[in-house]
Amino acid sequence: MNKRIAGISPSLTLGVTSKAKQMKADGIDVCSFAAGEPDFDTPDKIKEMAKEALMAGETKYAPVAGLAALRLAISKKLESENGLSYGPDQTLVSIGAKHSLFNIFMTICDEGEEVVIPAPYWLSYPEMVNVAGGVPVFVEGSEENDYKITADDLEAVITDKTVAVVINSPSNPIGIVYTGDELRALAEVAVRHDIYIVADEIYEKIIYDDAEHVSIGSLSCDIFNKTITVNGFSKAWSMTGWRLGYFAGPLDVVKGATALQSHSTSGATTFAQYGAIEALREDDGSVGKMLEAFAERRSYMYGRLSSMEGVTCVKPMGAFYMLPNISATGVGSLEFCEKLLEEAKVAAVPGAAFGCDKNIRLSYACSMENISEGLDRLEKFMGSL
Ligand code: PMP
Ligand code: GLU
Repeated sequence: MNKRIAGISPSLTLGVTSKAKQMKADGIDVCSFAAGEPDFDTPDKIKEMAKEALMAGETKYAPVAGLAALRLAISKKLESENGLSYGPDQTLVSIGAKHSLFNIFMTICDEGEEVVIPAPYWLSYPEMVNVAGGVPVFVEGSEENDYKITADDLEAVITDKTVAVVINSPSNPIGIVYTGDELRALAEVAVRHDIYIVADEIYEKIIYDDAEHVSIGSLSCDIFNKTITVNGFSKAWSMTGWRLGYFAGPLDVVKGATALQSHSTSGATTFAQYGAIEALREDDGSVGKMLEAFAERRSYMYGRLSSMEGVTCVKPMGAFYMLPNISATGVGSLEFCEKLLEEAKVAAVPGAAFGCDKNIRLSYACSMENISEGLDRLEKFMGSL
């Protein structure tokens, strides 16, 4: 067994989600807060376009880096919505943003090189860096700074082995949204040390109140040159099962990653890419409707958690997760979630998976009924501990 592979633990987000789905299929009344996917269907116009492409015989290999029309659409989207001027040749379409990130770390990391990852973090970043032979280096933002890392925090962990820092805004699992000024301060440190900024912007459209999404690469020419921007179709258009994501970045990184992809997956599914072109074509209001539903659930869930005995919670400004702190119970997050599922039939992801064992992650990408019933059960469970 390859040592790097032997060291990986399977994704807990996917693991808990599928366990809860299986329990439901077995007739068990589970309230699941596990899923990191919107509970809406993919908008019809996107499905129609993919269906048309399928029926028109678009069933052969696509170019490795993606259909030319999709790469052009991505390049235009990044320019008009994000202020990023990547040419189509600076984009690579992959099998989900997860695959994009995997390709990036494989491309930019040499053995023993370090990638800075702010904690709490999305659980796949460190595993991907490990598989690439790199070393994840965690940095924690302070509670007073809403768990955001500062330029000083970043500066303090950079060594001569550092090759990149990951900035995930809006973030999974805590919903942090960095302001333009905060991003600029972080980016200036990265530029000074000549390291890449891997900007995971997959939740860019899911933001609340007066939060604003700023693409870090749009802040200056120097910053742009060091930024690799990651995005995808899973979250904004509820296309998790389509497996389509992309990144845009410096030409040599794109070329390297494309060569890697040419020997692993080849291009993404051809007819699915036509659906993605349609997703980027014009806003049909579906993203806005989804956002309205998320905003209502967020308010409700935050209100309930804030008033729950033994629980504290940061109000998320983006994405669709909450990360209540359950440390007052004295129980670690793995044991807490195991008991919660067994005894209260509520599925949540242990914070330990995201580098925060004091917390559990609840996704509110599920119905209000599920949220209300699940929180009733959680409250009762907390009382029983
Ligand atoms: N980045 C973050 C922060 C995520 O939460 C996810 C989870 N879906 C991804 C990337 C990857 O998404 P996908 O592979 O479905 O595009
Ligand atoms: N990213 C989502 C989550 O954090 C989906 C599952 C995954 O790919 O990790 O739950």
